[in-house]
Amino acid sequence: MNIQAFFKLSYGLYVISARSGEKNYGCVVNTLQQVTAEPPMLSVAVNKNSVTAKAILDSGHFCGTVLTETADLNLIGTFGFKNSEAVDKFESFSTKEDENQIPYLTEHVAARYSCDVAGTLDLGTHILIIGKVTETEILSDEPVMTYDYYHRVIKGGTPPTAPSYKGNLKPKTEEKPEKTARWRCKICGYIYDGDPLPADYLCPICGQGADKFEKI
Ligand code: FE
Repeated sequence: MNIQAFFKLSYGLYVISARSGEKNYGCVVNTLQQVTAEPPMLSVAVNKNSVTAKAILDSGHFCGTVLTETADLNLIGTFGFKNSEAVDKFESFSTKEDENQIPYLTEHVAARYSCDVAGTLDLGTHILIIGKVTETEILSDEPVMTYDYYHRVIKGGTPPTAPSYKGNLKPKTEEKPEKTARWRCKICGYIYDGDPLPADYLCPICGQGADKFEKI
């Protein structure tokens, strides 16, 4: 099978959040989409090992937001590459709570959908969650972040837990004369331009140290 064919699919970038017990959970996904209009329903595929997935299934609710192009690496790194059990991902961002007391970002997002879990499908590595939308909100008119924009402009990577993971993209060498060495984070794919890589450097996306970077 030619897996290059999968690279032709287009996606957006989203933060989904949940609340279980007294704890907030959230992660970045590229798999949120509307599946029906009457009633309005969304689907989202989430890695089964994700603590956010567990919180969604435990609570029966989730909230999806559409990231805009103004979302930076700090935001995407916080929600995409860190663990909700280890850090409160929401504490340094502007948030509100929806009708289910689930926090959601109010900046760098275009819209919000609050959902009741209406069904699930076990897909092996991932679980497909169907959400019946109970509340929506438009939060900005900024252009929405596409997965392509994230890779090309933000130059972010894809975690191995993503359904679309295909090994992190090679740097776009045509955009820059290769006079200077660059370093790539082996965890998330972030590219550091320059050489040497400072010994105390921390990846702005996933927070890993310089030892996780390889020279390219
Ligand atoms: Fe990284």
